[in-house]
Amino acid sequence: MATKQIKPILSRALRPIQDHRIRIIRLIVQFIMFGLLNGIIFGIGRIPVLLPIAYPTGGPFSTVWNAFEGLQYLLTRWIFPYLAISVFILFGTILGKTTCGWVCPFGFFQDLFRLIPIKKKKVSKPSNKNLSRIGMAITIFILMMSFIIGVTFNNSGTKTAFGAGKDMPYSTIDPASTLFGTLYYYLSWGMQSDNFGAEIGQWTFVFFLRIIIFIVVLVLITLYPRAYCRWFCPTGVMLGFFSRFSIFGLRINKNRCSSGCDNCEKACPTQVPILQYDKDITNKMCINCGECIDACKDGALKLKFRF
Ligand code: SF4
Ligand code: SF4
Repeated sequence: MATKQIKPILSRALRPIQDHRIRIIRLIVQFIMFGLLNGIIFGIGRIPVLLPIAYPTGGPFSTVWNAFEGLQYLLTRWIFPYLAISVFILFGTILGKTTCGWVCPFGFFQDLFRLIPIKKKKVSKPSNKNLSRIGMAITIFILMMSFIIGVTFNNSGTKTAFGAGKDMPYSTIDPASTLFGTLYYYLSWGMQSDNFGAEIGQWTFVFFLRIIIFIVVLVLITLYPRAYCRWFCPTGVMLGFFSRFSIFGLRINKNRCSSGCDNCEKACPTQVPILQYDKDITNKMCINCGECIDACKDGALKLKFRF
């Protein structure tokens, strides 16, 4: 009798966990990855690995290298960035944007912001697409800028005229770099310290621009889930370029999708128009987070290798 009564209570209590199974697993994986990426805290040294994630190579505890920073760093030195480009091609064509959904610390940060109990907003489908063009424009601008700095460096042997952005132009405004680098150094060293004070003194405008951009991004990600990923991030743009050909990704089985409820689209943090696809979801905004799978009661969606 007692077991009969406990069963439904237990199943009701576990319902929220069952309904968000993948989301919970993903948050745990993101947390573990965040620890590994900050392995210096635990005595792990730097690992010579380039990853397509938004996390500053110069972060105080960073163990790996940021591929988009590596790309800029080499271009501004007039060296062709074979390795960084290969990283984007390899990750993009094999895993799509899985690193965005499961590994990237700034993606994790945005997912934590989603937990703030404020009603989230959506933009219309055309606006979502149009806004993502900002990220494309930023990426093209940064690559061109890096190229111009590289040409200048090759011709004159110097690039100091480009100030704070001479090595990696995007890092001067990158909100991930602000959060995990600049703010950390600021809080731990203080404005007046030799290192940080010198940086602020030299590049006051860049410093304040960086903070303003960071605040704007904070507001946006509070209201619009993963706003930075879908509309601005150059690493996301680079991965998204190749992810449409990826062999791993989301697939929909239209025969199973009986109700046409669009619960999957409602659950998607990046507003992918899932139901427009007949089989493979090749949308460049899909980060393979699996939240649509949690939301689909027909079991019509799966993350799988799409051979
Ligand atoms: S798109 Fe988002 S998750 Fe992907 S690298 Fe950029 S910040 Fe990270
Ligand atoms: S389509 Fe699904 S897996 Fe892709 S981002 Fe949206 S919820 Fe995540």
